[in-house]
Amino acid sequence: MLAPGDLGSSRRALLLFALMVLLPGAVFGILIVRSVRSDRVQAAEGEAQRQRQIVQVFERELNSWLFSLQADGARARAVFKFRLAEGRIHFPEFELALPIVAQAPRPPTDSLPSDHPTAQVISDFYYPRILVLLRDFKAGAQYFLRLRSLIVLLPGSSEGYAIDAPQIVARANEWLAELCAGTRFTGSLWIGDLQDRPAAAAAGPFALAGFPFFQVVFHDNGGAGARDVTQHAFAYSMSFLVLVTILGSFLVFRTVSQDVRLSQLRSDFVSAVSHEFRSPLSSMLVLLERLDAARIRDPDKLAEYHAVIRRDAQRLSALVTRLLDFAQIENGKERYALDRVDLVALAREALEACRHRAGGDRLQFSGEAGPLWILADRTALQDCIENLVENAVKYSAADQPIVVACTSVGGSQVVEVRDHGIGIPRAEQARIFEKFYRGLRATETNVQGVGIGLAIVKHVIECHGGSVSVASEPGSGSRFRLHLPKAEG
Ligand code: ADP
Repeated sequence: MLAPGDLGSSRRALLLFALMVLLPGAVFGILIVRSVRSDRVQAAEGEAQRQRQIVQVFERELNSWLFSLQADGARARAVFKFRLAEGRIHFPEFELALPIVAQAPRPPTDSLPSDHPTAQVISDFYYPRILVLLRDFKAGAQYFLRLRSLIVLLPGSSEGYAIDAPQIVARANEWLAELCAGTRFTGSLWIGDLQDRPAAAAAGPFALAGFPFFQVVFHDNGGAGARDVTQHAFAYSMSFLVLVTILGSFLVFRTVSQDVRLSQLRSDFVSAVSHEFRSPLSSMLVLLERLDAARIRDPDKLAEYHAVIRRDAQRLSALVTRLLDFAQIENGKERYALDRVDLVALAREALEACRHRAGGDRLQFSGEAGPLWILADRTALQDCIENLVENAVKYSAADQPIVVACTSVGGSQVVEVRDHGIGIPRAEQARIFEKFYRGLRATETNVQGVGIGLAIVKHVIECHGGSVSVASEPGSGSRFRLHLPKAEG
């Protein structure tokens, strides 16, 4: 156990320790965060670069697939083919030949039949668009959203064909899957309304230079976090270690401070108890000496001496009882015998017991006439009320009234003790129920007490399923309330 004098030096040592850990920890933490962040930025740049390369390769592949005459090229998958000859567009599969004119007829507005194209569908829907392609591009490819088709005109040739969009998407995604193998992302082709909008995690879209109607988007595969953790395992574990050390030093600091504080309170308690014993004992010894010497013959004086000795002996006895109660609570050995008790009657008894100590009409009772039934250990609860009344007496001027009142509030029966004494500063109000704690004014003005009364009260009331509250204003007085559950029936 630390002695109170160690408080300063142990705090200094702990502060030094915290500084030695905290400062390098903070520097180390900043370095780790910076290195992880720059790694991330580099990785993201590398990824974007790789995606651009993939898009270039993909574009070349698409180009050669669409415009080459290979057996597995786009031509092989065409929905239909057409040929330009003698100022007409020939559709051999449909035995259809339509003139090449400058002005494309306006395409009909009703929707495109979904089944396989017929001569009618060709002339109504595809033909006007092929004319647009011939007029605007001469050669190349053009995507028509309503047709969901790409119409391709082979460069340097008089041949063309139409490809269904889903076929293009399927083919494109095969390439993209191959090109993205081994990376942390997957690519997919995005054509207007044919694909869902890119997911939030997607990068791009990358427009294809030769085919502005197609776009490529890249989706994160996930698992980036896990890879990140493995990559930076050392950095993360070091940060964790630093954090644990900082937290540990803080906890050690707190525990030691609490220990030191408790040890200080205990030592104050021992000196307060000694003091409480010493003054009545020495007064009793002096009086007994005089009585022994048989110098006092005046019967009034004799009666007075006996009264003083009795009062001091009672005071000592009350103190010993309180210390024993406290010891039992500390050892967890206290037992309460619960009876159905009228709180009003009990409060009146407690008040009467205190009356001769407080003297005169200072103690008053107010509030309900009763009965207010509770289940309680009669002796323990009466001690609690007496304790509050004695405190009110100790901490207020001799001419100030002290009021004990009982009321019923909701499901609780309440007894309160009010005084107009010195009051309790707000900062102390939370601590006065701690064991050994004594207020500053109490110690400064040498008011009798050892700092365990309210701790006992709180313990007893909580064991009864109730609670204690305090309202106080320094200089105006205090009001302590005991809230106890109502007895059934
Ligand atoms: P003590 O033996 O010091 O009275 P208690 O546990 O009964 O110990 O009270 C703890 C502290 O609460 C006291 O030291 C005092 O500062 C404060 N206190 C208790 N009751 C009152 C009161 N009625 N008025 C002002 N201060 C009080």
